[in-house]
Amino acid sequence: MKDPGRIVIIGAGPTGLGAAYRLEEIGFERFLVVETKGFPGGLATSYRDSQGFTWDVGGHVQFSHYSYYDDVLDLVMRGRWLSHDRSAWVWTGGRFIPYPFQYNLRYLPEDQRQRALEGLQNVADEKKPKAKNFAEWIEATYGQGLAEIFLYPYNEKVWGYPLETLDSHWVGDRVPPPDPERIRQSLAASRDDNSWGPNRTFRFPQRGGTGAIWQAVAASIHPSRLLFDTPVDSIDIQNKRLMLRNGSALTFDHLITTMPLDLLCARTEGLESDTEELALQLVSSSCHIIGIGLKGPEPRALAGKCWIYFPDANSPYYRVTVFSHYSPDNVPPGGEHWSLMAEVCESPFRPVDQKQIESQVITAMQEDGLITSANEVVSVWHRRESHGYPTPFLGRDQVLGRLLPALEQLSVFSRGRFGAWKYEVSNQDHSFMQGVELVDRLFGRGEEVTLNNPDLVNSGHFRRRQE
Ligand SMILES: Cc1cc2nc3c(=O)[nH]c(=O)nc-3n(C[C@H](O)[C@H](O)[C@H](O)COP(=O)(O)OP(=O)(O)OC[C@H]3O[C@@H](n4cnc5c(N)ncnc54)[C@H](O)[C@@H]3O)c2cc1C
Repeated sequence: MKDPGRIVIIGAGPTGLGAAYRLEEIGFERFLVVETKGFPGGLATSYRDSQGFTWDVGGHVQFSHYSYYDDVLDLVMRGRWLSHDRSAWVWTGGRFIPYPFQYNLRYLPEDQRQRALEGLQNVADEKKPKAKNFAEWIEATYGQGLAEIFLYPYNEKVWGYPLETLDSHWVGDRVPPPDPERIRQSLAASRDDNSWGPNRTFRFPQRGGTGAIWQAVAASIHPSRLLFDTPVDSIDIQNKRLMLRNGSALTFDHLITTMPLDLLCARTEGLESDTEELALQLVSSSCHIIGIGLKGPEPRALAGKCWIYFPDANSPYYRVTVFSHYSPDNVPPGGEHWSLMAEVCESPFRPVDQKQIESQVITAMQEDGLITSANEVVSVWHRRESHGYPTPFLGRDQVLGRLLPALEQLSVFSRGRFGAWKYEVSNQDHSFMQGVELVDRLFGRGEEVTLNNPDLVNSGHFRRRQE
């Protein structure tokens, strides 16, 4: 085994905990996790509001691509799960359409259905040149009809940037490609088709929201190795030293950092100017989570639904989760309450009015038939995450391809959702495994497949086994 010396990990989110978990598993003790907040979980934390409603930072679902990850979660959660059938929908033009949209065209009005089918046919007939950006990729893959009816407006709402400025290489199998034969069959049979992709069922903690998972993972790590309430203010790269807000310093031989890469570079003294300039090119969007706690009967149309996508312009949100369906513990006891959780993107192209957004969400929910009356609202919870989505901007891979190795030369390994800035491998399972795989690499035990080969991981053909 190589000895990497003393390892410090910045951040006790899924990535930092993945690294810490693996270090303990292989019997390495010279490491420490430093975390700004007083608790673990990062963006996968859950919060309980003053009215007794529990909220995640947006609808968090376990989509696992790894048996190792499943095994760890089984071990730490000890069966404290609820299981759900995934039921995802799109709300557009005043109707619910099962997701994936393209396989359920029978729900569209006749003119839209024809436009969508024509576009799909054109895609099948024509050989288009390679897409130069995400907008072109959408049209080349789904055709103009589907692009205009759903995919352009929805993706503009999620990403908050013009789709011509985004790359398409990240997509992999995250978005199901259309299969014309399957579309024709479901139209002919007049039946719903919502059996896309992996994870047709998903599990959710019985109590405490998604954050309960990361509390449980953190509880499996020796407490002396987790330093909470300890923000890292700056990094002195020449002396391999972290300056902590509490005035003390920590030295390291290897630094695993999961804080946003742009902030890391801005707070690191002694970087080459090239590296600093690369970091300035990183693009991201912020995310507002607005939890609406309700008392009264839930509209019948929401029965059994997990989450709904919203492409239309009337609503500020791109997705709403019926969060009370995930666990009865997400709402106060007594059976009278239920809850909706909206996600709103903020970017320079989609500014959000901080003061108005809560009432805008409630108004749109009434328009969309999600709530009958504002009088039913008994709680409003609002959280803004400045780093919400790592944007797959054009040129991202070139920037990361220079930035991450430049930091590694300095024994700094930046991983995770905003540490490595790769949206396609930034879910909880990917993030946890980025931490695990990095440790394996540092100890000469394995490679970083998730970071370097997202398509392989997302294809489902790769499920890393526990040694
Ligand atoms: C709206 C939304 C919806 C999502 N939905 C899903 C989903 O359905 N399924 C899924 O699997 N994943 C989902 N995710 C992704 C999931 O939240 C991430 O995969 C995961 O949290 C990333 O883990 P991480 O450790 O890389 O980063 P983070 O969770 O961001 O953790 C980084 C940690 O570093 C700490 N930190 C930062 N700076 C410092 C500093 N200077 N000093 C000390 N500590 C610091 C932070 O406080 C934080 O705890 C979603 C994310 C969002 C935003």
